[in-house]
Amino acid sequence: MTGTAPRPRLSTPLRVTTAVAAVVPLCTAGWFGWRALDHSHPAGAAVAVSAPAAAQAAAPADTADPTATPVAPPTAPPVAPPPTADDPTGTAAPAAGANGLAGRTVLLDPGHNPGNSAHTAEINRKVDIGNARKECDTTGTETDAGYTEAEYTLDVSRRARAILAARGATVVLVQDGDRPWGPCIDERAKAGADAHADVAVSVHGDGGPAGGSGFHVIMPARVVAGKADNSAIVEPSHRLGLLLRDRFRTATGEPYADYVASQGLDTRSDLGGLNLSTVPKVFIECGNMRNPTDAKRMTDPQWRQQAAQGIADALTAFLTTR
Ligand SMILES: [Zn+2]
Repeated sequence: MTGTAPRPRLSTPLRVTTAVAAVVPLCTAGWFGWRALDHSHPAGAAVAVSAPAAAQAAAPADTADPTATPVAPPTAPPVAPPPTADDPTGTAAPAAGANGLAGRTVLLDPGHNPGNSAHTAEINRKVDIGNARKECDTTGTETDAGYTEAEYTLDVSRRARAILAARGATVVLVQDGDRPWGPCIDERAKAGADAHADVAVSVHGDGGPAGGSGFHVIMPARVVAGKADNSAIVEPSHRLGLLLRDRFRTATGEPYADYVASQGLDTRSDLGGLNLSTVPKVFIECGNMRNPTDAKRMTDPQWRQQAAQGIADALTAFLTTR
């Protein structure tokens, strides 16, 4: 959080309305007004005044069961687009109305599986990723206190699913805590095509050196080798990577990784999940679980909701902008 000013927090719809009305003329503040509104009432901001019950149903609280099926308010008006005048990158937040993503399919790939550690023989089996053979899956990392990466990735993916589903998307999880181990990385890559997904994100937490902190996004290098040919997804995945890097940072305040990647971005050719994907896909390492500061954040359900918000916003932007 170094160097990142805290965002304004507004607690009631009236205050949100007042605040937004006050900041709209100020183009430098308009974006932050939007973000404050968005975060005070995740996924249901614009309907909170006219349909509070429906908005609550569509907007799980930070402590709500992230597996709960969101109920989209049938008469909810679309969420107004945010100000864009102060967005020099041209990647303003999307106009994600209640049905803004109708007809679109998103694949979320929660890295690892809580059961992998009990199935080492199965996950150690080598699979073909085009330019190499690699373990089917791995156990992932964990915090010093024993909060596992697999628990983290599943929780954040479920939270992101709820947000995206409330926006009308069809969301498919590669695994939903519903299988004893895996799947293997080649199957995870194939899942995007199987689901006829428009886009995919693989969610991870890193296991870097304890002194390093921050998040980074991993984009696919072009790999044409053996059964891998991801040529068609390199460019759109790069666009997705930039959006995810920016949205995740905005939503969480997490700094770019200071021990790996550059400016929060890396490009790799050794990940089966990227080599073999035929739909635009990136990985996000949301933080370093071996670092005490990052571990504290990643263990906090409220921070995980922000992480999910950043991921969902990036996917929404990818699907609604060009
Ligand atoms: Zn991982």
